[in-house]
Amino acid sequence: MKKRSYSQSLADLKSLGIRLTPQRQVILQLLKETKEHPTAEQVYHKIGEKFQGISLATVYNTLNKLTELGVIRELSYGDGSSRYDGNDSEHAHLVCQQCGTVIDIECPQDEVVVTQEVRQAGFQVSSYRLEYYGICASCSESAVYQLDHTYMVHV
Ligand SMILES: [Zn+2]
Ligand SMILES: [Zn+2]
Repeated sequence: MKKRSYSQSLADLKSLGIRLTPQRQVILQLLKETKEHPTAEQVYHKIGEKFQGISLATVYNTLNKLTELGVIRELSYGDGSSRYDGNDSEHAHLVCQQCGTVIDIECPQDEVVVTQEVRQAGFQVSSYRLEYYGICASCSESAVYQLDHTYMVHV
């Protein structure tokens, strides 16, 4: 499935008889129009500029509701810090362990992920979540710079 845009998602919900409050619309729009995968706190800070007086609890409730409706995804990392993803298509993530950036990449073909070994285990895969952990390009660039710099200092 391709990523559904903000207006497509609104239309999808409307056809199901679901209307979003202006606050919910703004949060959905924010997530649909960013490539970032913000935490609830980050959403709260961005939304606060438009809706003064909105509480963090309301932001959490809205994010839960939108996840439940299937228009966004929640990526929980087991440490209590969920990130929210406006990209509702099948895709994989590159997670930078240095700066925390989460980058979308296209998901490899099913055959690559659901390997022979998985099939041999007799396991019926209904879905999977694929994430690569490491250092993003801009972090590794700055690491190279630091190494060069150290080198210069010592020479
Ligand atoms: Zn990084
Ligand atoms: Zn994503």
